[in-house]
Amino acid sequence: MEREIPVLYKRKEECCGCTACYAICPKEAISMVEDEEGFEYPQINENKCVCCYQCIKVCPIKAAREQ
Ligand code: SF4
Ligand code: SF4
Repeated sequence: MEREIPVLYKRKEECCGCTACYAICPKEAISMVEDEEGFEYPQINENKCVCCYQCIKVCPIKAAREQ
């Protein structure tokens, strides 16, 4: 079964905008996009993503939730 494009956050509360995912992506598939309030959130370019899930592993919020 093919791996799916990861979901970095479902609600904005699940992302603090730390840019760790953006920094680690080996494919530069993530861009930080400003919302209407000026906060930056990561957005995955599905055409570039190779589903390595490194962005999910590095995310401090997801790591905290799994403990
Ligand atoms: S799964 Fe890998 S390639 Fe896709 S956005 Fe995350 S780090 Fe980048
Ligand atoms: S690593 Fe997690 S908290 Fe940091 S910008 Fe990416 S999704 Fe948001």
